[in-house]
Amino acid sequence: MNDSQDQAESLANLPGDSGHFGSFGGSFVPETLHATLAQLTEAYATARADTSFMQEFQQHLTDYVARPTPLYFAKRLTDHVGGAKIYLKREDTAHTGAHKINNAIGQAMLTRRMGKKRIIAETGAGQHGVASATAAAKFGLTCDVFMGTEDMRRQQPNVRRMQLLGATVVPVNSGSCTLKDATNAAMRDWMGSSESTHYIIGSVVGPHPFPMMVRDFQSVIGIECRAQCLDTIGRLPDHIIACVGGGSNAAGIFYPFIDDTSVKLTGVEAGGRSEKLGDHAAPLTFGSPGVLHGSKSFVLQDSDGQTSPVHSISAGLDYPGVGPEHSHWFDVGRADYTSCSDSDALVALDSLCKTEGIIPALESSHALAHAIKIAKDMPSDQIIVVNLSGRGDKDLEEYFRLTKQD
Ligand SMILES: *Cc1c(COP(=O)(O)O)cnc(C)c1O
Repeated sequence: MNDSQDQAESLANLPGDSGHFGSFGGSFVPETLHATLAQLTEAYATARADTSFMQEFQQHLTDYVARPTPLYFAKRLTDHVGGAKIYLKREDTAHTGAHKINNAIGQAMLTRRMGKKRIIAETGAGQHGVASATAAAKFGLTCDVFMGTEDMRRQQPNVRRMQLLGATVVPVNSGSCTLKDATNAAMRDWMGSSESTHYIIGSVVGPHPFPMMVRDFQSVIGIECRAQCLDTIGRLPDHIIACVGGGSNAAGIFYPFIDDTSVKLTGVEAGGRSEKLGDHAAPLTFGSPGVLHGSKSFVLQDSDGQTSPVHSISAGLDYPGVGPEHSHWFDVGRADYTSCSDSDALVALDSLCKTEGIIPALESSHALAHAIKIAKDMPSDQIIVVNLSGRGDKDLEEYFRLTKQD
């Protein structure tokens, strides 16, 4: 076995019991949560080993989420760009319009298994809130979703959706009144309620076991994609590209390919309007290691270690941290990370609409923009898969406001 195989093998086996991915990850939480996280780690380990749990999860993904989602050859987009063939993994076709439902279903099932009756969640754009409210309704759980008042104003349709699904949206009126503040509020609630309540974290972030657990629930994306590539193309793709907010859709599609060292993996962060701190949301591109929301990873912070404000046109990427496993993949060079500007994402969104009749989410448009950028310099027998993490219906107003077409 050569060195790179050695390394790939150890990557697939991470994290160990302490929840570390190399020097990243871990569990940096107040002592009141230690027992809760230990209980969760144990419950998840036994659930994973329980075939009936995993079969039921797969059944819900099939009947309810409408999986497998298609792997689609974007022929007109490919012709338009010229160069490598571009395929789309269509998470936009999943129930509720994005990949987030995969994780919400898995964690709601785990909540029921632990005998808890209430879930809480944090949300920025409202997509994870909607996925959590959906799963709560399906499994008969009470659901409170913490959301900054600024985000509630910007994302009114998703607030309405959550309410219609039976969830309570709890307004958070502190700090910048956005996602980071909502996460702090959810964490505070959990410290006092964890006996009856499970906190569904929406990405591969937070203390152990969340980054591992969310990655595993989202890995259905990459497992399907790998089989679909072998089935329909007859080989693995050359390159997989996904956008990175916290990093769950990227981890979900990357992880099942982690041992396939011939497959290049690229995460695309939100480059925003400039490279200045505060103008983007790209911690792996511009940040440094630090601790945020319970684990060690790359973070955007000032010279005093204060988490810095972030900006992106896409609310789902607008987060100053990133999952610890991505920091490790970056560190060891298994995946690379780049960023895409607000304006390039808007152009990519328009291109996919016009060439394929698919309206992608602003988040996914970042991945798409990078694919378009590199495809034209690649030979036509090369294959790129873009994880199209969600659909863009939620972004229409923002799109027309930003492109001043109203
Ligand atoms: C939330 C969201 C993202 C970003 O979250 P990750 O955890 O990085 O996947 C990306 N795309 C869509 C459509 C989302 O809703």
